[in-house]
Amino acid sequence: MKNVLLKAAIALPLLAALASAQEAKPAEQHPGGGEVHILKVQGNIYMLVGAGGNIAVSVGNDGVLLVDTGLANMSDKVIAAIRTLSTKPIHYIINTHVHADHTGGNEAIAKIGTTIVGGNVTGDIADAGQGAAVIAQETVLDRMSAPTGKQSAMPQGAWPTDTYTEEKNMYFNGEGIQIMHQPAAHTDGDSLVYFRRSDVVVTGDIFTPERYPIIDLQRGGSINGIIAGLNHLIDITIPASKQEGGTYIIPGHGRLCDQADLVFYQEMVTIIRDRVQASIKKGMTMEQVVASKPTRDYDPVFGATTGFWTRDKFVEAVYKSLSGEK
Ligand SMILES: [Zn+2]
Repeated sequence: MKNVLLKAAIALPLLAALASAQEAKPAEQHPGGGEVHILKVQGNIYMLVGAGGNIAVSVGNDGVLLVDTGLANMSDKVIAAIRTLSTKPIHYIINTHVHADHTGGNEAIAKIGTTIVGGNVTGDIADAGQGAAVIAQETVLDRMSAPTGKQSAMPQGAWPTDTYTEEKNMYFNGEGIQIMHQPAAHTDGDSLVYFRRSDVVVTGDIFTPERYPIIDLQRGGSINGIIAGLNHLIDITIPASKQEGGTYIIPGHGRLCDQADLVFYQEMVTIIRDRVQASIKKGMTMEQVVASKPTRDYDPVFGATTGFWTRDKFVEAVYKSLSGEK
């Protein structure tokens, strides 16, 4: 707790303002219509905040690569922000997962990009075709293209053009990029994206430092998968000695973080999981577990009492996930 408050006190005023503008808004119901703010992270990487989910932008000699694209109705502002960073072509979009606040801009942004033929690229590039490549874990395509007419179904122009199963490596703008599937976490199609030279990792909604993690049970998420994802992120990240920095972490929503933020969050989620698990073992019903307030000591930092993802919704999802309900 002290750590979090300390960090809040020394965070850049810009970050604080951005965080309060974004806090605890339900990802899928974010109204949009705000402004997109640009933050330099380190190396090639910038962070765009305010378009729904956070967007990571890699800029360099090869061109532009994005991780996530924000809400559809923010695409013009996202494109304008990218153009202040680079006028080179947008070649790649990587989606961390299927939700519309992370993929809504795919169609409009991919359309103005160009494809590179031949995979790994470096140096000068001959633009090879219309439309940026959209990379995602394979279940993202399944869910976007499912003919069920459900909420997650997206127009064809937004679908991934290049899917992978477990891991995909790329080389772009002078650095290796690892795209790693994290199974059954926030959804069943989550990717972590690690920029190795810049030393920045993009987490999608497995890590959202200002609210409890959303577990999308309907789309294959699970509490134990979230914790496995947070442990994986702790393995990837390396803190700077006795100071902020080291590996930077762009979360799905909220402020730029470092490993200390991640460790605090992982401990919080694990402790709450263990409390709910112990209550299930005692035979308590979901209602009884919610009433026992297993999150209460963390609620001042993470627990919303109104909106889409309240502390009670989180506890219910943990209970359902551990007891195999949907
Ligand atoms: Zn999400």
